[in-house]
Amino acid sequence: MTQKHFYLDYAATTPLDPAVLEKMLPYFSEQFGNPSSVHSWGQQAENALETARETVASCLSAEASEIVFTSCGTESDNLALRGVARAQRSLHGKHHILTTPVEHHAVSHTAFDLAKVEGFEVELLPVDSTGMVDPDEVARRIRKDTAIVSVIYANNEIGTINPIAEIGKICREKGVPFHTDAVQAAAHLRMDVQRDFVDLLSIGAHKFYGPKGVGALYIRKGIPIQAVQTGGKQENYLRAGTHNVPYIVGLAEALKIAQTEPEKRAQHFQSMRDSLIHEVLSRIPGSQLTGHPSRRLPNHASFVFDGVDGNALLMMLDVQGFACSSGSACKTGSPQPSEVLLVLGIPAKLALSSLRVTLGRDTTSEALSLFVEALERCVAQQRK
Ligand SMILES: *Cc1c(COP(=O)(O)O)cnc(C)c1O
Repeated sequence: MTQKHFYLDYAATTPLDPAVLEKMLPYFSEQFGNPSSVHSWGQQAENALETARETVASCLSAEASEIVFTSCGTESDNLALRGVARAQRSLHGKHHILTTPVEHHAVSHTAFDLAKVEGFEVELLPVDSTGMVDPDEVARRIRKDTAIVSVIYANNEIGTINPIAEIGKICREKGVPFHTDAVQAAAHLRMDVQRDFVDLLSIGAHKFYGPKGVGALYIRKGIPIQAVQTGGKQENYLRAGTHNVPYIVGLAEALKIAQTEPEKRAQHFQSMRDSLIHEVLSRIPGSQLTGHPSRRLPNHASFVFDGVDGNALLMMLDVQGFACSSGSACKTGSPQPSEVLLVLGIPAKLALSSLRVTLGRDTTSEALSLFVEALERCVAQQRK
């Protein structure tokens, strides 16, 4: 009998929704035109592109002209930070970047690169022991020369959701562009750039059952920004390169599905997730939840375990048929504790025992019961 396998790593990526694939297929073959071409093939492709743009805009409460399609969430983050920081410096001499120590590398490595290579000054906001940013600290640290504020919407490693609307309101009052990396959040939380006072928002399709290799960036009208990738005049000169029409169509369809009644789906995930957390904490001694206990992504649970090696635990779980993650992307070489967990005040050794379990559309409570049993066995075996 072949062993059953359970995927519990939906924060890393999700499978493509068959309904999304269906929408994408014609644009690989019959409707293969380049939206930049004048002829009817081009017009057909352009129609699909602009319909996708309107769909994405309406999902975010934005206008179509404020959406730029990119190749992934990482590129959206790069364009937001590099594009706004450079424009703010050349237009207004501003060179201060205010961000957090719990960003995805797509933001943090971009900010540090801007500091190292281009002389920008990067300041990191403090976070509490759940990884949350205090809006008052944002107000206190914004300066006259602050070029951009960037705060992750919901954290990929620990699930914590930041008070984005409050932070956005402060940035708006102070006249500083506010970017948020919503690559995880858009899969589960209702997005609304007006409600949240957001000026730039990054998404990536493969985190919400869309295809890998396509993303979008919302850029509020009037926000100063320079292109990072130069070439053709696609995307209003902000992102050169022939449009990946099928993937853009897929991103729009997947976002539309994700943003249809997300509250209802969140409830479903949350009850399964909460009982998972309860079971793990009550059955496994020396276990601890990381991130916020309630203000967290509805499908997201993350733990550390006393006296356990996280990588070995992942491999043992995989053998038992459960695909999880440590929460950070580091897979090979000498294991480094996650920077995010260290910032929460978790000691390095304990941080190396991290486990992230993220649920998806195909996850059942039966699978989670089996998972908890397997986890209990694996942890006990490691401690022996
Ligand atoms: C996955 C992820 C990214 C990167 O998105 P890609 O589309 O994989 O490049 C950025 N930020 C967060 C929070 C993510 O979870």
